[in-house]
Amino acid sequence: MVVSEDKRENLQADCTKCFGLCCTALNVAASSDFAMNKGAGEPCLNLQPDYRCKIHSNLREKGFKGCTVFDCLGAGQRVSQDTFKGQDWREYPLVREKMFRVFPIMDQLYEMIAYIGEAMSYQISPSLFEKLKVQLDQLQSLTMLDPDQLLSIDIPSYRHPVNELLVETSEYIRNNIKVTTSNKSRNYKGVDWIGKKLKGQDLRGINLRGAYLIASDLRNTDLRGVDFIGADLRDADLSGANLSTSLFLTQMQINSAKGNKDTKLPYYLQRPPHW
Ligand code: SF4
Repeated sequence: MVVSEDKRENLQADCTKCFGLCCTALNVAASSDFAMNKGAGEPCLNLQPDYRCKIHSNLREKGFKGCTVFDCLGAGQRVSQDTFKGQDWREYPLVREKMFRVFPIMDQLYEMIAYIGEAMSYQISPSLFEKLKVQLDQLQSLTMLDPDQLLSIDIPSYRHPVNELLVETSEYIRNNIKVTTSNKSRNYKGVDWIGKKLKGQDLRGINLRGAYLIASDLRNTDLRGVDFIGADLRDADLSGANLSTSLFLTQMQINSAKGNKDTKLPYYLQRPPHW
């Protein structure tokens, strides 16, 4: 089950093929997003023997909002069905510890693959496309490694070149967007706009990489061509906002924000059920 290479929209989690890895492998501290402490490798108390969540239909009401935000992009089913060849960790306890350590690595590989897949879907120069393709092929081949090989991967050494290409892609696209007087400076990388009132503004083409947009008011804001990689959008209000051509936006960012039926999303993202 190889990821369908350069198609960003094909990277979707299928929990029916996963052994509940996001509910077991990850370390989660108690917070307003998760109502209990859970160590890495420790199954959540709400995880049932069939790997379904006992409180799936009312996670938010029960204090597990974070579970409605998380998206593995399909890394969970890949580890369960391919890397460990369908060996359920409950039935095969010997694989358990290794499977839980492999999952976060696969998750990071999938995240990079998703960003590259998106970058390759844009109208970019042939040379940039080729450079992205080289990285994609390399990452795809890493996902096919066996558990021990996956555990030996130095993830940061792959993140750096990928990040450089994503920055190049972002600049290539955003430089072709018409600048208005309100977004002339374009670069707001890492900006602190927590709770900021930006309702109805034209922010097309700006760089919001790593920006803090928690609880900001982005209602009816024009966010086309905005680079959102790594931006914190928790509880930002995106009702009526236009994100149809925003760059490097993830399902997790959207799940963590507020929005409504009028919010325009990129083609590869789903409208969260709680909007
Ligand atoms: S509450 Fe449900 S979805 Fe969240 S970690 Fe536990 S079992 Fe998984």
